[in-house]
Formats: sequence, C-alpha cells, structure tokens
Amino acid sequence: MPLSGAHTECTLADPVSFAGIGLHSGAPVSMRLIPAPAGSGIVFRRTDLDNFEIPANGRNVARVSYATSLMRQGVLISTTEHLLSALIGYGVDNVIVEIDNLEVPILDGSSLPYVEAFVQVGMRRQRRRREYLRILKAVEVTENSKDGVKFIGVYPGSGYSIDYRIDFPAPIGSSRFLGDLQTGAYAGLIAPARTFGFREDEPMLRNMGLIRGATDACAILIGGGAVQNGPLRFPDEFVRHKVLDLIGDLALAGRRLQGRVVAERAGHAMHTALVSKLLKDRSAWELATVCDEEPFTVADLRAHGLASAPIAAHS
Ligand SMILES: [Zn+2]
Repeated sequence: MPLSGAHTECTLADPVSFAGIGLHSGAPVSMRLIPAPAGSGIVFRRTDLDNFEIPANGRNVARVSYATSLMRQGVLISTTEHLLSALIGYGVDNVIVEIDNLEVPILDGSSLPYVEAFVQVGMRRQRRRREYLRILKAVEVTENSKDGVKFIGVYPGSGYSIDYRIDFPAPIGSSRFLGDLQTGAYAGLIAPARTFGFREDEPMLRNMGLIRGATDACAILIGGGAVQNGPLRFPDEFVRHKVLDLIGDLALAGRRLQGRVVAERAGHAMHTALVSKLLKDRSAWELATVCDEEPFTVADLRAHGLASAPIAAHS
C-alpha cells in the first residue's frame, strides 16, 4: 500500500537493484537503492568515484534541457527525474542511491519499475515527522518563446495538487491532467506513463549527443502523426508523463510540496527554474510538519472529477 498519505518519514524496508542503460549517454549502469536514516533525504552516491555523494536538492541542479541533472564539484548525475518522481510520488523520504555511472537507467521510460520494486520490498516507517514545504504565496515563471507562452506556478493549497496542460503536434494535441498526489494515486495514475519522442526530432537530438540509449522499449515513439509502438498505457499517457516529470523535478525542492501547481506547456528547464525561484523567496513558503491530508482512493478521485480529462482546446 502506498504510504504517501503518512505524516512520518519512510524509507525502503530492504535494498532494491536496477540495471539498464542511460537514455542520453547510452552507458550501461547498475543502481541500488538502500534504506537510509530519518532526516537524510535522497542522496546519490557514485560508487565508481570513491562513493562521492550528491544530495538531490535545488543547490545541485545542473544544466537542464532534455533531462534534469545534478552536479556537485564537477560530478554529475544525469536524468534523475523519473527516479525522484517515483520516490516522492510513492512516499520514500530517505534513501541512498548507489550508482556506478553518470546517468540513471531509463528502464521502460516510466517510473513503474521503481514503484513495483517498492511494493515488492515494502516500506519502513520512521519516527521523524515528515516536513512539507508549505506554499504561502504564489510564485510563477513565464516564458514567451517563438512558439507561444509557457507557464508554471505554485499556489497555497492543501494536499499536493497538479493541473498540467500540454499542446503538442498530432497525435498528442491538447490535453490536461488534474490530480492530487496526496490521494495516494501516484502508483496507478502517474507511474506507468512513459516518456515520448518524435522521430522528426531524432537527427537533431543525436547531433546534440543525446538519446544514444533510446530504443522503442524505453519511450513512446511518434512519427508521421501516429504512435509507432503502441498501444498506449492510457489515452492521455503523454500529459501524465509530463506530470511524472514535474513531480520528479519539484522533488529538488528537497521536500514534498503542500500546495497547488499549475503548468502549461512547461518542461524540465521551467520546472527547475520554479524550484530555484521558490527556494530563493523565503517569504513564499514555510516548513510544516502537519499536513491536513485525507487519503482517498482512486475511485474517490474519479468520483470527484479529478481524474484526467482531455480538453479540446485551451487559450
Ligand atoms: Zn520524463
């Protein structure tokens, strides 16, 4: 059972291991998540570099374009978002991530393999009360680019709600997802959603030295206006994956948010820009140990109209 509705911190009951390749580096990588003491947070440990440690927080965010990376003293951990999303989404507060290369494995392009492993080993509740980063006032980032306005903002609110809108070329189109992480629905509604890419962008990305590890087993591939390796896991899998990425990127605030997030056509760079702006504005948040959460089920979420709904168009 997910423990995301709990008031106290959690770690994994036992270590879990993963092996795969990095999406962008194409490098083989082994990774092991091991239980960590209360209060320690999520810390990466490069076992190939004398166990050099990089805590997953906003101070260590590195170059962000197609993936979110952490860097400390020149040591990199790349493509952290799906793993961090799974940890925050499922409610794992403290863990050491031992990794023997620079990029987290892409696995199937979603965070489902992580959640399945967490379910298998189980969670251990810890004595320390979980601290939330409670939003006290609006913080927003807007970008006017040649292809329109991109936006992300956080606002005060109970729970951790996300309202995400995307607008991509066919077959994705416009879609919107509304949900609340505090409901414990992450594992079912968000974790299975895979990353996606357009065939048309492939030469450019390869020229940039990216997606060297990409295969049709680790992403939804879109070409000629159609999904090439269906079926999709959800009709709106694309926007759900953007929510997955957002949760992973906002994890770099160092604590789970208590508030409402609204994003429109955003991406990793805007997600992490919001984290930096939020952390710098000390009047915009406080640390709070109690969260007025009411765990509900997925069925409750649907009954309240909070499950995702594609929308025809938006301004
Ligand atoms: Zn992603």
